[in-house]
Order: sequence, then structure tokens, then C-alpha cells
Amino acid sequence: MKIEPAERVKRLPPYIFAELEKIINEKRRRGVDLISLSIGDPDFPPPKFVLEALAEESSNPNNHNYSFSQGEPEFKEAVAEWYKGRFKVDLDPQSEVVALIGSKEGLANIARAFVNPGEKVLIPNPAYPVYANGATILSEGIPLVMPLLEENDFKPDIESLVEKDLKDVKMMFLNYPNNPTGSVMDKKSLEQIVEFAEENNVIVCYDNAYSEITFDGYKAPSILEVEGGKDVAIEFHSCSKTFSMTGDRIGFAVGNRDIISGLLKVKAQVDSGPPRYTQRAAVRALRSYVNGEPPKYVKEIARIYGERRDELVKGLKRLGLECKKPLATFYVWVKCGESSMKFSQRLLDAGVVATPGIGFGEYGEGYIRFSVTQPKDKIKEACERMEKVL
Ligand code: PMP
Repeated sequence: MKIEPAERVKRLPPYIFAELEKIINEKRRRGVDLISLSIGDPDFPPPKFVLEALAEESSNPNNHNYSFSQGEPEFKEAVAEWYKGRFKVDLDPQSEVVALIGSKEGLANIARAFVNPGEKVLIPNPAYPVYANGATILSEGIPLVMPLLEENDFKPDIESLVEKDLKDVKMMFLNYPNNPTGSVMDKKSLEQIVEFAEENNVIVCYDNAYSEITFDGYKAPSILEVEGGKDVAIEFHSCSKTFSMTGDRIGFAVGNRDIISGLLKVKAQVDSGPPRYTQRAAVRALRSYVNGEPPKYVKEIARIYGERRDELVKGLKRLGLECKKPLATFYVWVKCGESSMKFSQRLLDAGVVATPGIGFGEYGEGYIRFSVTQPKDKIKEACERMEKVL
């Protein structure tokens, strides 16, 4: 029998990191000591109160049946409370909140709910690859690139979009605080985006997964805070970064009830919601915020990521590598001035793993992404190692 993948699967781009991964694995097999500054996964455990909640909730026999596919009522209420405290936005837990098995799942499924084959989706570039691939291409939509350029502070140029033919554009993905550039959003730009979406009938999928990992007094806004935001947008959140729960797979989407209802129609046919015990532990995590103020744990990890960012930026400057201190996320996006694959191979030779910008799209070429998901002394050592080859 000849096993033939579907055309939509064949249209997925080749996995750019495959070659690099081969080299990394080979080096590791040979016992080479590598410092990895490439992983977008916290090196902290979740807070103790969340670990305790997970242990307690998972040992409750009642928490092992199917959940509701939209999420447990208590979870959705906790999300609405968290949102009200954090962003001063009212949400109806019944119709404006849905639980996700991590935000990635929702970001992919949303396109299946709204994008017809051949319709276009505005995709930032560089970006988290799920928007173009898992969402758009696997829904047989067509990705329409919005370049995120340094001169625009890595935000899309909405004015130039207006000049394009937007007839078949159904949806737009945006992500701030941004992976990989570390760029952040302001209310004025959000207003411009909401206005653009309203005028052009474009659904906005706003990925706010890093809203709580912010530094130097910066507070990430929600697109739903902006007037008219709820008319056009769905916003994606996650417990992955805020509470270092990446493997627990718990996130949520909030916003326009028709968009939420479309997402739910897809999810009801695909999954049965996150495990009850994870949702119940997440309820405790979300309720650790008081009037929108993060608990000690979240403040502390943000402080530590911020210190590591300072150490890395200081080290990179010494090496003559240009970069701005990001106000959020655990990424530092650096211009390397050459092929990002070649540059990362040179770093590998020095025992440092970083992510080549090209992996996030063609506008990521010439850049490299470092994650500060390693302790400060490792970051310092990585800078010393890089000094030898750069
Ligand atoms: N959005 C962005 C921008 C991300 O970087 C990630 C994970 N790295 C996610 C969403 C997905 O997070 P999760 O599925 O764990 O909620």
C-alpha cells in the first residue's frame, strides 16, 4: 500500500531546525557540554501551592471523569474573575470563556472554525509557527505575511495593510508580548488594530500567552480593554508561562461570544477539555491573584527572568551584538548580521545553543533568539563561551 499524506499536510513547510537538531544530538551523544538558551520552557517548577493542588485534585476520584469540552463551570468563573481583576474587563463565564488544552490547541483550532479553503489569514512574521502552519495551512487557508520589522518596533504596519486587497482576508493573528522579538503592545496600537478589524471584517486572534512575564513596571494590556475589542477579537491565555505549567496543558480563550462559540463547535468534535484536576489546580492558581495583583511567585519569576535578561544583554553588548532590552517574555532577539543558521552553528561550536531567527519565518533571517530559561551563572558562562568564537 502507498501511504500518501493529505495535500494540506504536504503544504506544511520543511522543519527548519532538523539539521541543527541533528548536530545538537550528535554533540550531546559525544558528551559535549552544551548550554541551551534555545528552549521556550521555564526552568522553574510550578509554585508549591499549585503542586499541592495538583496532587490533591488528582487524588480525588471524582476528578477523573470527562470534563465538559468548554471547561468546568468553576474554571470558567475563575477565568472571568481573574480577567476582571487583571484587565478590568467583564466576561460572561458561560458564553465568553472556553478552557483550552494549552493555548496552542486553541490557536490551531480557531482557524478550523472560521477559515474556508482559499481564504486568507494575516500572519505576523517572524512568529510562533502555529499561526501559519497548525492553524492556517492545516485549515487550507492562505497565510498572508505581515512583516514585523525592527523599524516598526516589530509591530505590523497597519497603514500598509489597508492598501492591500483584503477581500478574502478572514482572520488575523497577533502576539504581544511577542515571541520571538520580545516586543510589547500599547493601547493606541491596539485601538488601531481593532478599528482595522472592524472596517475590514477580520477576526483578530490575539495571543497573550506572555502577559504576566513583564519587567520594569510594564503591564501587558488585553485587546478586550479597547473599545470595540469584544466585537472583533478572541484572546488566548495560558498557565504555561505564568505558573510554569507548560506540561500540564491548561490555557483558555476569552472574548467575542460568536467567535468563542465557533471554536467550541470544533472542540466539541475533537477533544473533551483539559483534565478536571488540572482545571481545578488552575482555579487555585488564577485565584492567587488579588485584585489583579500577581502572587509572590509570579512577581519573583518575572524578577529573575528580568535579571537574567540584563546579564545576557550586558554580555551580548560586550560581544558587539546589537539588541534592545525586552520589556516582556523570556526571549532576547538579537541581530546577528549573517545567515541565522550559520550563526547558530558557530555558537554551537562554542557550546551554546540558540534559535536561528529563520525558524520563525523569512523576516526572522539575520536574527537569533536567546531564551533566558537558564540560571544567571549559565548565561554568564554562555557569554564567555561565545566571546571565544565571535
Ligand atoms: N503562544 C506563544 C507565542 C508561545 O510561544 C507558546 C509556547 N511556546 C504558546 C502560545 C503555547 O503555549 P501553551 O500551549 O503551552 O499554552
